[in-house]
Order: sequence, then C-alpha cells, then structure tokens
Amino acid sequence: MSQHTPFARFPEHSTESLHELTHQLYESQQTQWPMLRDGVAALKNVQFRPVPCGSFSVRLQYNPKRIVSTGAKVDAAAIKERKCFLCGAHLPPEQQGILVREKFLILCNPMPIFPEHFTIAHVDHIPQSIEESILTFLAMAKELSPRYSVFYNGPKCGASAPDHLHFQASPVGAIPAEKELPAYLRTVKESGNVRVATAEGYGRSVVVLTGSSEQAMELAFLRLTSAMRRVTGTNDEPMMNVICTFADGTWTIIVFIRSKHRPDVYFKEGEEKVLISPASVDIGGLVVTPMEKDFLRADSALLTSIYQETSVPQDTVRRIIEAL
Ligand SMILES: [Zn+2]
Repeated sequence: MSQHTPFARFPEHSTESLHELTHQLYESQQTQWPMLRDGVAALKNVQFRPVPCGSFSVRLQYNPKRIVSTGAKVDAAAIKERKCFLCGAHLPPEQQGILVREKFLILCNPMPIFPEHFTIAHVDHIPQSIEESILTFLAMAKELSPRYSVFYNGPKCGASAPDHLHFQASPVGAIPAEKELPAYLRTVKESGNVRVATAEGYGRSVVVLTGSSEQAMELAFLRLTSAMRRVTGTNDEPMMNVICTFADGTWTIIVFIRSKHRPDVYFKEGEEKVLISPASVDIGGLVVTPMEKDFLRADSALLTSIYQETSVPQDTVRRIIEAL
C-alpha cells in the first residue's frame, strides 16, 4: 500500500472521469517529478522507421531509455533479489497515483514508450495474472476511454514485474495493431453476443474478441484462456499479451498468443545479439530498439522471424478456436 497521499481517489470524491483524472495526473507529475519530465523530454529525440514486411508493416522506435526494460533480467532469481518498483513502499517520494476503488494505483511510467504511458499497479504485491482481474481490466478500458487503451503482459512474456500484478495504459491508437487489425480479421465464431476473429497475413498469432456486454466478454475471455491452456498443454497462465479498447459501447480484446518471450537472437553474444524483447507494444507493431545498431539493421526478414518465433504456430490458433 502506498505511503503517499494519492493524487486522487476514484470514484470517491471525484466528479471527473477517470481518463480526465489520469491526464491531470500526467500534467501534474510532469511539473513535480524530474525523472518523469526527463523521460518524456527524451521521447522528443526518439527516432522512428517503418519496415514493410510483405503483407504487414512494422514501426521501429529507437529509444535508448528503454534499455532498462528491454534489457531487464526477468528470471525468478533476479526478480527475487530486486526491490519491487511497483510496491507503494518503494515508490519515489515525488511519485503520486490515482487510487481506483482502493485496489489499483494508476502511476506515470517514468521511462515511457509514449508521452502518456501509465502503469496500473495492484496495491498488494501479488503475482501477475489476468484471469481473476479480467473484469477490472474491462472496467479500466471503459473508464479510461476515449483517451487511453489498456494492455497486459503475461508474467513470462514481457511483464517487467512478473511478481506484482499490473496493467498499463497508452494513448488510444498508439499501438499500431489497434488500428491495423480490423483489415486482417476473419470472424470464426459468434457466440453469446461476442464475435471471435483471427488475423490472416498479420505475421503473428492473434485472437480478437468483440462485444458490448461486460459479462459476455469476461466469459468469452475465460473460455479462450481455458482453450489455450488445453491446446498448449499448460497448467500455468497461457503466454499472452492483451490489449483492450472500448469505443461506441463495445469492447475489443486483442489477444496475442505467444510461444516464448525473447527470440534466440536476444541471447547471442557480441555483434549478433539483437536487443528486441517483444511485449504488447512490440508484438502490436511498434518494436522498441534501445540500441542504435539494432534500429538501423532490423529488416523485414529479422522482424518477420522474431514475430514468428515468439508466436504460437497458426495451427495452434486453429486448434484453440476449435476448442472454444
Ligand atoms: Zn511489488
């Protein structure tokens, strides 16, 4: 639990919408927290480069500050040794957050990928896992719309704090998949007022759920993770990155189904090493490269193979859909 006085509590004592409050938090923290100000200022110098990859395109972001996250050790031993940066007791003194229903704290990310980039951390130090919190995730997507989307990285595929439950939020449309995916989708099922679709020609394995009932979306998501568990033969949470948006009364949940976190080239030595560590934003089409040499040399072949290597095979997606 945070020792700080929160910037605001939601919904209590608040006439503002959550997305408005969150934007106000960002504005206020920029004036009070030099680390965030520096992190946001550094974004003005990031470079972008589009890489056409046949039927899809990837946007590269050269962002040296992200070395901390991209290069982070996320094995159990390293996680155990470090001080958890999402626990209230360890937050920098200048950092404030919005306490949502006494359960989650919305915090500004001081090493952002987007100018407004938030971490939504549970107030307790409990493991990263989405199924029990999917209703909160859907509620956050609704309450943070139309300004922000929310996303989730599984504990074994991109979460830099796999031991502390958290979501993230980014400006709506900032992750390319949000806008790109509709053109690639094919509806494969329609049940319980939820549309289930997969993407073809997108180079990644993805299932998209769309619907306007919170309960139906919860049920559909849990059915999907249960099918993923059966087909991939795991008792753990299936590896996934999840992005959720809410617009016109409808939720869209984008589930990227992963086979591994980091590609083999990440673990090479010297010149051969490529520091690309895909999580939601990267698998969603904006690949962050903290090293300039990787930014300059990443080409269609490399990016296509990283996506393919870290996603489950298309046949697995087909079997998951059949198992729904
Ligand atoms: Zn923690």
